[in-house]
Amino acid sequence: MPIKQIKEENPFESMMQRFDEAAQLLDLDPNIYKILRWPNREITLYIPVMMDDGNYQVFTGYRVQHNFARGPAKGGIRYSPDVTLDEVRALASWMTWKCAVVNIPFGGGKGGVICNPHEMSPGELERLTRRYTSDLMDFIGPERDVPAPDMNTNEQTMAWIMDTYSMHMRHTVTAVVTGKPIEIGGSRGRREATGRGLLFVCNEAVKKFNMEVAQTRVVIQGAGNVGGTAATLMHHEGYKVTGLADISGCVHNPNGLDVPGLIAYLKEHKTVEGYREADHVGREEFLELDCEILMPAATENQITTENADRLKCKILAEGANGPTTADADAIVADKNIFVIPDILANAGGVTVSYFEWVQDRMGFFWNENEVNSRLHEIMVNSFNDVVRVAEKYNVNTRLAAYMLAIDRVAYDTKIRGIYA
Ligand code: NAD
Repeated sequence: MPIKQIKEENPFESMMQRFDEAAQLLDLDPNIYKILRWPNREITLYIPVMMDDGNYQVFTGYRVQHNFARGPAKGGIRYSPDVTLDEVRALASWMTWKCAVVNIPFGGGKGGVICNPHEMSPGELERLTRRYTSDLMDFIGPERDVPAPDMNTNEQTMAWIMDTYSMHMRHTVTAVVTGKPIEIGGSRGRREATGRGLLFVCNEAVKKFNMEVAQTRVVIQGAGNVGGTAATLMHHEGYKVTGLADISGCVHNPNGLDVPGLIAYLKEHKTVEGYREADHVGREEFLELDCEILMPAATENQITTENADRLKCKILAEGANGPTTADADAIVADKNIFVIPDILANAGGVTVSYFEWVQDRMGFFWNENEVNSRLHEIMVNSFNDVVRVAEKYNVNTRLAAYMLAIDRVAYDTKIRGIYA
């Protein structure tokens, strides 16, 4: 039993389980299969940082570059005490598949540093970020690997990376990262892009099942960049957001939450504790609330073989990367829950990151309407592409998304030829 637990909760194993299944259904060329099973490059760094008390601490950091067949590696950097190489590996490979699902010219990468950013001062975080960047100078760049924010990193982190890289290059290189502040080369609409992409695919699913937006109850786990933005946008669209959770707790109001009020409360108090306009429920109970759309938008391994059978949603829209374990997929499918898988559902972020990279390289910036309408087109087309593959092969939408992505990466790998 403990062995099964470890395997189920290893995100890289979860990714590989789906990859193998999709590869088999595609009858993937065995040589291409062998290549795509492995990341292209994994970098481990030991990063010395001077702490505010004058002592040094050495942090462990990673950057995994999973695949370059379709373009530079692309993917966020995460700061968390829970970072592991397997997690970063999984996240990097999901970026490869995600970029291929939405058909943008990037491969996949991801970075992570084992640290507790909530216990570090801004100065310590800046020094950590700059040294991490400097140690990665030979591996990142607009044509090589383009980082972005992820859990516990933000626009400020990206600004430090851009500045450090530019200092080494002796000129300003805005396209080395995405998710920067708008004033220094960021894109309008990037901050909201992942949440907005989630809204667009949820709208498509709701249309597909002839549901009414106003009657659609949405429960969202995570109130950060992804979950908090999705909650706000879905509320404005007319959805009934009935549940919202963050690390501090979970609140529920079956009649619909006052989302702007709750987000303002969270901003002020940094916790949902003490919020009086809704019921407080336990973490496990929260994911099992009766709703039409459940949106895990916090972290991995939230839906497992332990709780999948108790889900009460009709649509599972995966805002986080890897919120459902591979072993739970079959249970979710048996319950006829329509899954909008992570590599499609949360691809709005990397799509607008692609727009940011394009704008930086052109030196010409679009207005927000242009960004949002291009994002809409890509999200809707990708949703329809995944549904079409699911119908063609008679598979669930998760497998369909993997099949679509692997087929595209395999084709490009084959046409480039293998330099061996
Ligand atoms: P964030 O740091 O802005 O927010 C994370 C949120 O999740 C916070 O509200 C935190 O309190 C909450 N949280 C963390 N652990 C929790 C738990 N166990 N239970 C309940 N809430 C918990 O991070 P983010 O950028 O919103 O990223 C969230 C997820 O979305 C991650 O899986 C990330 O990889 C993925 N993602 C992010 C983006 C992006 O553009 N930021 C794009 C695609 C995917």
